[in-house]
Formats: sequence, structure tokens, C-alpha cells
Amino acid sequence: MMGDRDYRSIVQNAIDSIGRELELGIDAEDVKNIHLKEVTGCMRRAYYDRTDAKEVKSREFSGLLSGLLRKMQYGCESKRFRVEDADVTLEGRADMVVDDVVILFRPPPAAAGDDAEASGRMEAPHAADALYLNACMWIYGKESGIIVYMSGYQKEVMFSMARNKKMFEETVRRTRVLASLLKEKKTPILEPSSECTTCQYYERCYTTRRNAKQISLHEMFGLGGDKPEK
Ligand code: SF4
Repeated sequence: MMGDRDYRSIVQNAIDSIGRELELGIDAEDVKNIHLKEVTGCMRRAYYDRTDAKEVKSREFSGLLSGLLRKMQYGCESKRFRVEDADVTLEGRADMVVDDVVILFRPPPAAAGDDAEASGRMEAPHAADALYLNACMWIYGKESGIIVYMSGYQKEVMFSMARNKKMFEETVRRTRVLASLLKEKKTPILEPSSECTTCQYYERCYTTRRNAKQISLHEMFGLGGDKPEK
């Protein structure tokens, strides 16, 4: 805080409004069109986002990058893939398509850390990003794709992939499942993953987050007498 101004909240509000502007615009009522983002991440989270949404508290600036790129001249229009034997479409949106290659830009997954050194140690793309890129290749009819992780320290890590039919079939299967659960108003099962730690629905799925008090084994088991020597 400088003077009477709370600059931190001003900046956070600005980032939040940019984030809202760049959102994918999923129509919660249209259960016959499922967005790729909803089935490559936790489907329970996607279900809550449509039926009883809770706003994400803070957005990372690096996470806004792909939204900004999509808005620029080399950004892509979204495309829909009709799912066979079901009255459902799967909608995907790549960040860029250049020379028949689909490109996605992502912040490094939380588990990799966002410092340059940790991002540089990434050995494979995050599973949800790989599923998303693979599905985009099928939806846009391209054979190869690249995921670029930007750490915010002018350090990028790139992974290239060829498209894989089995992986896409799994994404299509998840699309059918989510569409049918939305239609029947049934909450998808828990999908425990690293996504849970930053998920705004953590309390709904598990329990209230508490700050764990550090206690020694001595206190935990109620051992009386002298405390262990330090
Ligand atoms: S806490 Fe985990 S299981 Fe629950 S909605 Fe969020 S990501 Fe899904």
C-alpha cells in the first residue's frame, strides 16, 4: 500500500478483468457443445463451472498469454468436431496454427515450479496439455503440434508431438460422459490430481483447508515428561 492507494488490489482487479475478457465463452446452458478444456481437465470442476460456478480468486499473468495470442492476428478461430453416435460437438481452440503445426502456449504446471531452472527440468508436457494439443490436431486436421511453456523468466521449454488416435478416442469418450452427466444433472466423480491444490472447489470435494499447526510427535501422542532434546 502506498499512501491511501491499495495498488495490489488495483493490479489484481485489472488482471481479473483482462482474464474475464479472454475467457473461452463456454455457454453453460448448451450441454450439446462441450469445450475441450472441460474434458482435458477435471470434469467435476467443469460441471461445477457450468452449474454452480465459483470465481477463481487470482489469475496468473502467464496464464493470460494464450488468451492474448488468440485475440491477435495469428490467433485461431475455434472449431467443432461432431461426436459420432451422439448429438454432441467437441469445441477446441488452438492458440496458433502455423505451417500445418498447432501451437499452444502454457504456463509451467505448478508442480514444475515457475522459476526458470525448475521449468527447464520438465521432461514431458503436462498430461492435460498433451491431451488438449492432441485433440486440437484432430479437430484442425493437422498431424503435428508444439506446446511452449513460458516461465516468465524469458525461458521457454518446448515439446513437439505427433497426433495419436487412441488419445483422441479417450477425449471423445470423456466428451460423451460429460455431456450425458450434464444432461442428467449428475455430478461427476472426484478426479484427484495436482489440479486440486489450486482448484476453487477444493472445499466442496474434500474438506475445509486449514493452516496446519506444526506439532511434534511428542505432543501428538500426548507423551508426558521431558521434551526431547533439540
Ligand atoms: S478439487 Fe479436484 S476433484 Fe474437485 S473439482 Fe477441483 S480439480 Fe476436480
